[in-house]
Amino acid sequence: MKRKSKLNSIITCKCPRCRQGNLFVEKNPWDYRTMLKMPDNCPVCNQDFKIEPGFYIGALWTSYPIVVVVGIILFVILSLLLNLSFFPTAFIIAISLIVLQPAIMRWGRAIWIGITVKYDPNLKKSNSSIIKKIISIFTIHLNIKEL
Ligand SMILES: [Zn+2]
Repeated sequence: MKRKSKLNSIITCKCPRCRQGNLFVEKNPWDYRTMLKMPDNCPVCNQDFKIEPGFYIGALWTSYPIVVVVGIILFVILSLLLNLSFFPTAFIIAISLIVLQPAIMRWGRAIWIGITVKYDPNLKKSNSSIIKKIISIFTIHLNIKEL
């Protein structure tokens, strides 16, 4: 099987570890009931997708730059190339970002988990998640210090 690039696995929302399993249950991001529904583990390599509670709050840091880049690209096209005035440009950018929001949120999550989980080209099926174990040990350590 041909290897997918990291960019390709992010755009197609694939597991960052095996780049084959789907990160989301439904392929269509515009189904608002299931747009962010993810399986607990990768169906191909069993990578844990729920790494810790609130893990995907950090995806705000990766989806926001996508919003900015899309906004800038649309601004250049509408305002500079098509010479639209301010209000039509702002309106079209706002509507476009609202329509694209589900896909942008998914890409933000795909980038975020891609930062944490590294690609494993020599992957063997495994039931353990080293990251989850490290985080649980770290959390136990913090709880002991707080008491
Ligand atoms: Zn996987």
